[in-house]
Amino acid sequence: MPSYRAPRGTRDLLPAERPAWARLERVASDIAARYGYRELETPLFELSDVFERGVGETTDIVEKELFRIAPRSEDREAWALRPEATAGIVRAYVQHGMRTWPQPVRLSLIGPMFRYDRPQAGRYRQFWQWDVEAIGDPGPAVDAELVELGLRFYREAGVADVDVLLNSIGDPGCRPAYLAALTAHYRARVDDLPERERRRLETNPLRLLDSKDPDMAAVNLDAPRITDHLCAACDEHFAAVKAHLAAMGVGYRVEPGLVRGLDYYTRTAFEYYRRGAEGQQQALGGGGRYDGLVELLGGRPTPGIGFALGLDRVVLALAETGPAAVAEPVPIAVVCGADPAGTAERLRIATLLRAEGLAVRAELGHRKLGRQLEAAVRDGARYAVILGDGLPSGEVGLRDLRAASQKAVALDDLAALLRRKAGSPSTSGRT
Ligand code: AMP
Repeated sequence: MPSYRAPRGTRDLLPAERPAWARLERVASDIAARYGYRELETPLFELSDVFERGVGETTDIVEKELFRIAPRSEDREAWALRPEATAGIVRAYVQHGMRTWPQPVRLSLIGPMFRYDRPQAGRYRQFWQWDVEAIGDPGPAVDAELVELGLRFYREAGVADVDVLLNSIGDPGCRPAYLAALTAHYRARVDDLPERERRRLETNPLRLLDSKDPDMAAVNLDAPRITDHLCAACDEHFAAVKAHLAAMGVGYRVEPGLVRGLDYYTRTAFEYYRRGAEGQQQALGGGGRYDGLVELLGGRPTPGIGFALGLDRVVLALAETGPAAVAEPVPIAVVCGADPAGTAERLRIATLLRAEGLAVRAELGHRKLGRQLEAAVRDGARYAVILGDGLPSGEVGLRDLRAASQKAVALDDLAALLRRKAGSPSTSGRT
């Protein structure tokens, strides 16, 4: 007998867990609307090229973690599941001529992302992100708006004590000189570099700065800092981002080692951490400016900035310290009957009530009334609507399952009565 399980690194979100996710989606949608970010969807897969160009060929995400889709023989195109949302959104911006819309185009997307990562706590192969992008604004004010927007999400979601780490990684004007200084620093210590980092030194030296390898900590301690190598324009931009954050009362910490994993970032880079967890390589979310990306994906030169917040890690954080679990919705009533075989009438009445907007289950089994009522209590329903049971036609029994009291109600009044009860605060969910 086969014994199937969800693929490694993926999880089923069971009904008891799903409401916590739905709540986060509501918080995100609500904040997006308040800040004027409009929701969109892009496909879960794109041409691999979109990610290879848009994320960068020398990044871990593309080199090691891209879920490539095995091509069918008749297809000449190579696809991959999306590892992040920005590249697909920017592809959509170019494809749909969004540069003719009022700028910046503010966009928001919630959905699953896929990375062939080594699974561990808080690291999955399918995970969820809330992604927010502002395309067409060079900043610096919008940079600060986004940093604060992310913090607001954590606050409204109930994750306490989230810190912002902030950096500027310059632009194609000033970064080459910095990279040369950085490379020289590592070359002088090449014997201390782990093998993998030695290879990356030649392709993407910036990545050595945020290396997860513990042996790199000492080598990075006295590495040159990008913030000491910014050109005047980048320096001014960075100072203005900080000034805008200060004007909003948003605290942050400048972290010169923060470079983010993606090739296309310019200037502002930021990450969110739970206080005290900065060293664990488990950011709650992160983002940055990508002024070269639109052009890289075939559009005209257009600045942009965005972030992605990992929802899985927010759910984990909330399970540890957050507010009580979110209740699953429960039916207001279960339609039961004295005649175990009377399923047609039970279903008919439930259908009438559902058409009136009520959450109602009908007892569809052929069990005795007592058993039906026990099941209704297990469902968390507040009432049982009881058919038959010696009542005249046109009337049903309405049993309050908590008070264990019962009265006769005219069928014509039932929906209005239940609607009133459903609106009252004593109807709570299942926890
Ligand atoms: P990144 O663009 O890689 O910085 O990802 C942004 C956020 O997505 C991270 O801060 C995490 O919260 C989340 N994230 C990234 N990769 C994973 C993963 N494999 N599993 C769960 N969450 C992830």
